Amino acid sequence: MGEILIPFGGAVNKLTIEDLSVKGKRVFLRVDFNVPLKNGVVKDDTRIRAALPTITYLQKHGAKIILVSHLGRPDGQRAEEYSLRPVAAVLESLLGQPVSFSPDLLGPVAETAINCLKEGHCLLMENIRFYPEETENDAQFSRELASLADLYVMDAFGTCHRAHASTYGVAKHFKNAACGYLMQKELEYLGSLLTNPKRPFVTITGGAKVSDKVELLSNMLDIADHILIGGAMAYSFLKVLEVKVGNSRIEADKLDLVQQILDKAKRLGKGLHLPVDHVVATEFNENSAPKAVEGDIPEGYMGLDIGPKTAAKYSQLIGQAQSLFWNGPMGVFEWPNFKTGTMTVAQAVANNPGITVIGGGDSVTAINMAGLADKISHISTGGGASLEFMQGNPMPGVEALAERN
Ligand code: AMP
Repeated sequence: MGEILIPFGGAVNKLTIEDLSVKGKRVFLRVDFNVPLKNGVVKDDTRIRAALPTITYLQKHGAKIILVSHLGRPDGQRAEEYSLRPVAAVLESLLGQPVSFSPDLLGPVAETAINCLKEGHCLLMENIRFYPEETENDAQFSRELASLADLYVMDAFGTCHRAHASTYGVAKHFKNAACGYLMQKELEYLGSLLTNPKRPFVTITGGAKVSDKVELLSNMLDIADHILIGGAMAYSFLKVLEVKVGNSRIEADKLDLVQQILDKAKRLGKGLHLPVDHVVATEFNENSAPKAVEGDIPEGYMGLDIGPKTAAKYSQLIGQAQSLFWNGPMGVFEWPNFKTGTMTVAQAVANNPGITVIGGGDSVTAINMAGLADKISHISTGGGASLEFMQGNPMPGVEALAERN
């Protein structure tokens, strides 16, 4: 903990597809088609739709598009339940055009499929994680994959925190490895929050485990002006501050890390805000009766949401922000009795006319539940990746892309 960590020199410095001359070229397009599947049916096509701007740009400009993605964790083995074949059908209907499918990524089947590709057409390759060399970032595998294409475009933000063959190893074989539109948007929004946020910059952090968010909190203390904390993680902070937390969920073995965050906030004079009231219940149960309490949580009760005073105070701070980053719910928002805090924060974020960014995961579910997704400047598609990015961790899939002069 200490210095500000910035993973690279700024989003817009990376080459984008518009910088490439793609006509007639075979483009290796790394996408994130890691969609939920049930019995071979795509249950949610959001990620496929998210790749459409890049795909249609490449189609319009006459590229031969080789789509590469992972799906789930097949652990380097072929497994029908992780096949990308059902995605080809969804993509076909979204594009209104046939999409070819190759069951192999390398070898004669793949080569023939690529040779048959016409300008403006798409070929979807089978799940790259059927090959153990993918997650091993195997050098030979990367070289062979690179030989399939003339250009490389990265549009899978959700995996760019991983140094895998298709996100890192392959890219290094191309002089002009570029980002697609989805990736570019992610980098511009998240990158500007890290490097040059409009102030005041307010970060809202919540969720189940403080241990998942310690690095984020530490980096945000360096960068943001106010940090608002909610969710179960707040109780570990309150415990360290000797507020009574009853049976609330705390991480007893992480209290030293919490103390370090508190010390850092004090040292930097940053506003680290914790709940002053809570919605509590006697049991961790959807039907438990909710009760609002201020200050200490009585014996036998647990905190399951921030209370109305906290929600009002957080809304006021959110209202004053020029830029915002939200990751993690304020309570057990899945249960109606304990969702008010999260919904109030969602409304306040949506009302803010500045730059509002939601980092993947449960806060995205919450903003969708509130019906306010269209009021947000940017909703990140990469849960783990956006968290790693905002923590200031290295992003191999970004670093591998060429810099713009
Ligand atoms: P995360 O994945 O870390 O963002 O955590 C999200 C989960 O934290 C959601 O499923 C919430 O129900 C849960 N959560 C939020 N607040 C609490 C709380 N006070 N007690 C228990 N679980 C919580």
